[in-house]
Amino acid sequence: MSRPRKRKAPPPGRESTSRFWAGAGLVAIALAGATLLVLRPRPTPLAPRHGLDVLLVTLDTTRADHLGCYGYAAARTRHLDGLAAEGTRFETVIAPAPITLPSHSSILTGLYPFEHGVRNNGNFYLAPRIETLATRLKARGYRTGAFVSSFILDRRYGLDRGFDAYDDRMEGEYTQVVTLQAERRGDRTALALDRWIDERAKEPDAPFFAWLHLYDPHEPYRPPHPFRDLFAKDPYDGEIAFVDAIVASVLDRLRGAGLLDRTLVVLTGDHGESLGEHGETTHSMFVYEGAIRVPLVFWRPGLVPAGRVVRDPVRLVDVAPTILDLVGAPALAAPQARSLVPLLEGRSAGPSPPAYSETLLPKFYMNWAPLRSFRDSRYKLIDAPRPELYDLANDPGETTNLYAERRSTAEALREGLVRLAASGNAMSVQTLDREAMEKLAALGYIGAGAELREGGSGSLADPKDFIALFDRLRQANSAVRDRRFDEAIPILKAVLADDPKNAFATLILGSAYMGKGSSREAIPQFRRYLELVPTSSYAHQWIAICLVRLGEREAALREAEAALALDPRFTDARVLKAGVLATRGEDEAAIRVLQEAVATDPAKPMVRLDLAKVLAEAGHREEARAEYETVLRLEPDSVPALTGLGALLAGQDDLAAAETALRRALGLDPTAAQARFNLARVLERARRPEAVAEYRRVAEDEKAPPDLRAAARSHLADGRRP
Ligand SMILES: [Zn+2]
Repeated sequence: MSRPRKRKAPPPGRESTSRFWAGAGLVAIALAGATLLVLRPRPTPLAPRHGLDVLLVTLDTTRADHLGCYGYAAARTRHLDGLAAEGTRFETVIAPAPITLPSHSSILTGLYPFEHGVRNNGNFYLAPRIETLATRLKARGYRTGAFVSSFILDRRYGLDRGFDAYDDRMEGEYTQVVTLQAERRGDRTALALDRWIDERAKEPDAPFFAWLHLYDPHEPYRPPHPFRDLFAKDPYDGEIAFVDAIVASVLDRLRGAGLLDRTLVVLTGDHGESLGEHGETTHSMFVYEGAIRVPLVFWRPGLVPAGRVVRDPVRLVDVAPTILDLVGAPALAAPQARSLVPLLEGRSAGPSPPAYSETLLPKFYMNWAPLRSFRDSRYKLIDAPRPELYDLANDPGETTNLYAERRSTAEALREGLVRLAASGNAMSVQTLDREAMEKLAALGYIGAGAELREGGSGSLADPKDFIALFDRLRQANSAVRDRRFDEAIPILKAVLADDPKNAFATLILGSAYMGKGSSREAIPQFRRYLELVPTSSYAHQWIAICLVRLGEREAALREAEAALALDPRFTDARVLKAGVLATRGEDEAAIRVLQEAVATDPAKPMVRLDLAKVLAEAGHREEARAEYETVLRLEPDSVPALTGLGALLAGQDDLAAAETALRRALGLDPTAAQARFNLARVLERARRPEAVAEYRRVAEDEKAPPDLRAAARSHLADGRRP
């Protein structure tokens, strides 16, 4: 049994939930319902419930037609289906882009990508001026928390605004891409949400808004046990069954905390997955239905009608306005979006506005034509070099292009599309750092920061003519991500034989060589990429990294300078430059460069760590200590900072403090070999016998760097000497 929650009296002018429901309002609604029941079973007016808790769940890469409630017989989604049965399900829901970050930006803002400016993953961000569902609800006194499962939605991309807690930690040991920590298994993300829910239960006066993002259905499809065995033939469906179980666990937690009875649950997705349709394996390149049709369910017994299915097509941009409407909060400035409450009520909201979708990824990645689609309740136009028109009522698989036959229908849609798209063309682009690039690469978005090739004469290629080539690139990309470099390289060479000016292929090929340690082979690929994309500061930076690995420090320095000339805020290029200077013994020059880097990027612990290290090596111990302490203020659990600080304190003869810092580092990460080695040295200096065991653990640690193991062995040998 759940206990009712007390709410604080709302500010003047706002209706109290309890009064509203216990008092005349409830009676009036009951009577109105009764009257309508006699005259006409529907519609049922919905009164907004102020202070209703809200749980928004976004299922990444989940095709609507792979859930049981959308008619998929092979599904094991009984919990999601249960929500749909007890709530209202929207049959046709269109994502504004088949891409995670743009689509989530639309879910949270009610804006189309050309309005909010987030046009792709990776180097786009949501501008701070834009209001979101979270900023609106927080302003209404909500406690707000977001729990996301992919680096694609990292706080750096701006969706964290309005959230008290934005949990974007990608936990190493649980991620599928272990080393790069770019995603988090959904059950781990849900555990973080569970803890937050428990906190909310202690704070019954404040309503909450929680957003849970589950990334599991995104490829690679590797569902955990038992879904791996149950869906051995269809691991994608296995991932969806897994997220079904996760959602059930969150609902259980809410029930257990006594909160479920006051929670509006909204379940949706960011885009679908083509699964081979039209030649596309995953998503992002096309705007066909498989990639842009997502589920949408509203559930709140007593408020949202049970078992209703809305057939009118709706759009993801409508989700935020509907939630705000249901909780009685002011609407967002979202001119294209509309509240779906009239449809929930069973009223007609007038003709459905056409749904717009876009993908600029073909242009950004391949210099092919971007695609836009515009659809009413029956016809869909795809604006491509060779345009397409489909009669979705009779041809839901979009197999017969009617563009030539039904020109007037197509032209009417095109006019609408042009008119709509003319209302904005926002692009919010930022520079990516190394960490971001690596994490995106780990998710298969290598080259996500690839720039547009300028100009170019003539018309752009139609993506549908080249999807097979893109699919080969995607395969090579996945191979690079999984460090199967020797598998990737021949595919990339073959692609480049077919399409020698393919910048993306060149970039991945360079990365593949770099990944397998063939710096000399990588450099010409990045040079070739620079011929195609001369403004790429990254290509210069990657060449610089290769040159450092080859010991060609002067040349590396020139490349780092070239990167900085193109992008003066490119922190990684500064760090690399400082590293070269430091290895040349120019510590003071290196320190100046790193101080510039810290000034450019003050919140970035990695840069401060480098600065602290060089300061310590140059004998500036107090300054080094201050930098380590700043890092630990930013990231209290930073193992490298604790390790460096421990060494520094040992150097200052504060062995007790050094030991404390190093033991803390090892407590956080028992595999941190450098911390263990430093600890062994501290113990040795304190003449403590435990030193031997610590040295031995480093010496025997096969994952420790070879030089560290050798040093540990040499200490052990010294210790045995009489
Ligand atoms: Zn996604």
